[in-house]
Amino acid sequence: MASERYYIPELRSNREREDEKKLFSKEIFTEKLKNNSEIYFFKSLNENLIKEKYYIDDSKKRLREDSSDERFSAISELLSRYTEIPTIERSRGSETKIEYLPELGEIFRPFVPQTDTAVADIPLPTPTTPVLTPEERARLALLRRVEKLRSPHLQALLKFVRATPHLWDQIQGFQQRKDMMLQKTSEPGENHRLFAPLLAGMAVTPEARAYLQISLDEAAKQESDAIKAAAEANGGYYAPVLIIGAGIHGAIFNAQLLNDRPDLQALTVDKDTRLGGTFRKPEGKVFRTNSRNRAEDRTIDGLPGTDGNINSLGQYATMQISDMSSEVYADNDTFGLATALNQYLSGNTMLGVEVTSVEKNKRGEQGKYKVRLEDTGLDQELTVTTDVIVVASGLGERKYGLDENDTETAQGIVDNFELALATGQMPKIIPYDIFLELVGDRRIQFPLEPFINKRIAVVGNKDASNTTIEYLLGLGSEYRGSVAQMGKPQQIAWYGPEFKTQAEYKECTRARYAELGLFLPRVKGEKAPVQPVAERVNRLRQTEEGKITVLSNGKNSPERADDFDFVILATGFEDQKAKVFTQLYSGSNFDNGLANVESRDRKGNRVTVARRIQGESVYFVGPSANISVESGERSAVAAIEIPENSVAIWRYSQRTATTARQLAVSLPRNQDYELIKLGKKQMPEPEIDGQEDNGFEFNVSKNTADKMFPPEVNYANLLRIRALAQGTPRPSEGSESDILAITVESMGITEDGADYRFKATMDEGAKEHQVWMRRFLDDEVNKHLLARLTRTAPGRITVKMPVVEGKTTVDEIEVVRPRRTSK
Ligand SMILES: Cc1cc2nc3c(=O)[nH]c(=O)nc-3n(C[C@H](O)[C@H](O)[C@H](O)COP(=O)(O)OP(=O)(O)OC[C@H]3O[C@@H](n4cnc5c(N)ncnc54)[C@H](O)[C@@H]3O)c2cc1C
Repeated sequence: MASERYYIPELRSNREREDEKKLFSKEIFTEKLKNNSEIYFFKSLNENLIKEKYYIDDSKKRLREDSSDERFSAISELLSRYTEIPTIERSRGSETKIEYLPELGEIFRPFVPQTDTAVADIPLPTPTTPVLTPEERARLALLRRVEKLRSPHLQALLKFVRATPHLWDQIQGFQQRKDMMLQKTSEPGENHRLFAPLLAGMAVTPEARAYLQISLDEAAKQESDAIKAAAEANGGYYAPVLIIGAGIHGAIFNAQLLNDRPDLQALTVDKDTRLGGTFRKPEGKVFRTNSRNRAEDRTIDGLPGTDGNINSLGQYATMQISDMSSEVYADNDTFGLATALNQYLSGNTMLGVEVTSVEKNKRGEQGKYKVRLEDTGLDQELTVTTDVIVVASGLGERKYGLDENDTETAQGIVDNFELALATGQMPKIIPYDIFLELVGDRRIQFPLEPFINKRIAVVGNKDASNTTIEYLLGLGSEYRGSVAQMGKPQQIAWYGPEFKTQAEYKECTRARYAELGLFLPRVKGEKAPVQPVAERVNRLRQTEEGKITVLSNGKNSPERADDFDFVILATGFEDQKAKVFTQLYSGSNFDNGLANVESRDRKGNRVTVARRIQGESVYFVGPSANISVESGERSAVAAIEIPENSVAIWRYSQRTATTARQLAVSLPRNQDYELIKLGKKQMPEPEIDGQEDNGFEFNVSKNTADKMFPPEVNYANLLRIRALAQGTPRPSEGSESDILAITVESMGITEDGADYRFKATMDEGAKEHQVWMRRFLDDEVNKHLLARLTRTAPGRITVKMPVVEGKTTVDEIEVVRPRRTSK
């Protein structure tokens, strides 16, 4: 018996509505009914819900009996919401299995709850509704997440993984273990974890993870560009809540706020151009964190010494670190990716903008505060107005901690850095954050190479110095090309700590660093790969031979000098938030002047969860709140004998979420309730003459050629993904152009020098095709990919673009590499 299956999508673009209308024209539908004795409807994607089918025999009969226009329009209205579910056949050995393959949109569309009709549309609450019910909140929050996942970049990523069997198998494996993933992380009816199996499946496969990272960055950039464009066009941007910082605490705050108040469109800003904060500053895996990776469990407090998750990204996060790694000490990249995913899925973020000042708005202006931002890329100013400011700016700016009066040291650091930039060499004096960025930089194939056989001084005595030394010793996380065979640093002098031997180190540090301890002297004075120097570094000088002299002294000893090839300053961070708020608070000690924001813990004890500027709606969360360690916390860490870490995630995670929850109830109801869709920045139309055999040339700049991609990336695949992401062209009203297929074939080296042929097949419209191709090739990343594929970088690329007229237009791009002429 023939049957057709449809599912019920809820969110559709205008474009999709148009397509569906065509699919369900009266004639087509009547035809379908004639040919199929059964039509099934599904409400969701997974294997359980496939059983929930809706047999609309009733409508079918009635349609046959009553084909009045009125009747038809009611049914077509109903059916215009459905799209087909494709299935795939897979052969494994002799067994051929028909598997259910959810259509891409199906994964990214929320499903309506149970009703006895095929189509159930929950009306959005009207602005007069006083409060949102939990169901309304859950649904609206889901719509917001879904809207994010519908970014063309993420859709393209999904298309790609779905079409790649080994990746899709991994994802399906996670999907089948969904109950384990969702257990203890969500209650029935909650949907914040709906996409966790899908994203976890991608995050654990290196290739998919690489694409996920890139696609996420692209999607976040697109969103950020759209917000910037709106801010520029309107001379400012209003958000009811502004969060400063897209790190862990920004993400925790956003996830809780989305759960409690999905009607609010908060805005997050970050001066960095990527989401993820501290852990995602390096572009890859560089160091391992020091707090154990444990499963999220809402029933247990995430405190040291318990089984609770001490790295929790909050109760309403889509992703937890424990979804993406089973390592006891997960790497920075996993923390960063989980943070970035949560931030993207729960908040709107403007990137590459630094908050420079905040002032009060005048009466009658929208919003209580005017926040000035500097676009770090364009050197221009933007303004955001808001009613509430939440500062999640982290540990602060880098601090050197050397002799402040010695201007020669400060100038030396700057000069050294500028010289390094100009010559492309590794700087000899390296601040910790730059060290992380450099060894994480994917363009550098052999990150450890500059340090081989060198004497290195590492200054500092906290986690930053521990992780730096670990990296230099081979205890870091990822080294790309640097292999042990190439050598190692000659010696590391560790300036700052008081311990002198392995045993003393063990006494004062956490077990996590035990391996590092093995490189310290066993007995006092023994020569070891890492030599602790219990001295304070005061000044730095550069010698004529290009070495760096470290001038230091012990408590009661005179200053002495020692020369090194490199000095790494892991000297900590300095809180700089006060300078942004000088107009709202002018007291001498900013931190002392802040008021406590309190809540009660499970036992009913009062706990400070955040701090605020007295009388203002400006709140500080996470380490930027600088909340002193309370006695309960101190005893928790003392009981298991680990050193206190006042900035640890476990200390602030719940506090940040509680602050969001408290603010959520106090914020006014958003009257403009619909989903706010961010428009795309209008791109100028490229000039095309529409002639056949139209070719053109473009230059790949060094900068473009140098772009970073993780080593797992297959450039041909990535190019295909991007082509899909930059999707079907609809340049002019009424145009029918549609991309039917995109292929990237390897041709070997041809006479022209082409290695690959990139081919897009489009349904009609030669001119539109050319416009699309041109636009596609105007993109810097795409140029880079073509250049990488053809090994042209940097240089001139020639594109041949023959156009075949007809119903289906086929364009090909052959990338022609200039051939070397031998004289
Ligand atoms: C090497 C290292 C290892 C660590 N390991 C652990 C660990 O294992 N476990 C643990 O619990 N903690 C660890 N920590 C501490 C942890 O990193 C921090 O507590 C946490 O990152 C703070 O999160 P956050 O969101 O407050 O700040 P961040 O992640 O630093 O994010 C703050 C963001 O604010 C942005 N920002 C700042 N000022 C402005 C401005 N004016 N305008 C716009 N944007 C701004 C920054 O660009 C940044 O992206 C570690 C820290 C370091 C350095």
